[in-house]
Amino acid sequence: MCDVPTATPLTFRSSGRSSASPSTESTSPPPPQAPLTQAERAVISGAERALLDERRLLNGDELAGLAGLPDGAVMALASLAHQVRLEWCGPEVEIEGILSAKTGGCPEDCHFCSQSSRFDTPVKATPFLDTEEVLAAARETAALGASEFCIVLAVRGPDERTMQRLLELVPLVGSETGLHVAVSAGVLTADQAKRLAEGGVHRYNHNVETARSFFPSVVTTHTWDERAETCRLVKDNGMELCCGALIGMGETDAQRVELLVQLQDLEPTEVPINFLNPRPGTPLADRPVVGAWEAVRWIALFRLALPSVILRYAGGREVTLRDLQAIGMTAGINALIVGNYLTTLGRSSEEDLQMLTDLRMPIGALTAVI
Ligand code: SF4
Repeated sequence: MCDVPTATPLTFRSSGRSSASPSTESTSPPPPQAPLTQAERAVISGAERALLDERRLLNGDELAGLAGLPDGAVMALASLAHQVRLEWCGPEVEIEGILSAKTGGCPEDCHFCSQSSRFDTPVKATPFLDTEEVLAAARETAALGASEFCIVLAVRGPDERTMQRLLELVPLVGSETGLHVAVSAGVLTADQAKRLAEGGVHRYNHNVETARSFFPSVVTTHTWDERAETCRLVKDNGMELCCGALIGMGETDAQRVELLVQLQDLEPTEVPINFLNPRPGTPLADRPVVGAWEAVRWIALFRLALPSVILRYAGGREVTLRDLQAIGMTAGINALIVGNYLTTLGRSSEEDLQMLTDLRMPIGALTAVI
């Protein structure tokens, strides 16, 4: 079991929402720039001591304390998160390209996903791309200075034909481009995890998306525990685990903290952080997007909870953060997915690379574990 709920009742911000209400900003929140009290500053300095002096992970209660700070604390949280990232991971930023090699038509019912065949969305099912199309995308990714290329498939898990294609493509992409090759192909059996590891898959992506307690509200065709089991198989077979989160589906602050503790337990190498970009036709189509200030707070909290992971900006950052995307880079993010995401258009690679130049952040390959 990797479910490690916090042991004591959690206290969260009273302004705008509570631990029992969805984590979305109210329509006219008060200005966040306000001085902190001594007690609030003490919560931040306690986290600083733990992460920078004692070099230990924060527990659920400590994370809940940080999550309960008022909006005026967000820049202080971001500043500490940036310092923690530099101390634990260094200054490099990892660039990854992803390719949806088999889009749409997925039998699962993840309520946020436009690739599910259960919802009437504009995304139509397409077959597995040709080898040459995959190689062309990988070459483009390598030309951007990336170190990682992820082949993503919209499936519950790979069937034997899909396994054969992956085992043929992974070494080809690696030898042609020099990129580390990652794969995202859903739930794995122990045998499939072993074969993919032996076939050269460097990192395997399998997101738990949200807290175990909230998961049944957004997915009914499989369980959080099934996802966690695949995460364990990935690590047991020597692949790096990439295990991401999706913020903004209606989960509470307490559930976000629960997720952070559960991620600590799964010990991923990489955590892609996604913000819900509500897709037409999905059950979450009408959910409001997470506010920019709120997004910065949670980026910082992810870094403070997971100090040594590769924390990657993934989907939804354009609609959520808009002009604050650079602030996220100084609030704990140290990796980017560039170019087009799976079903939505990301901002251009040139804009992202210019942002890194402006921030004077070097590009490099990262591998770290908690
Ligand atoms: S399993 Fe993946 S592709 Fe399928 S509906 Fe869920 S998130 Fe979408």
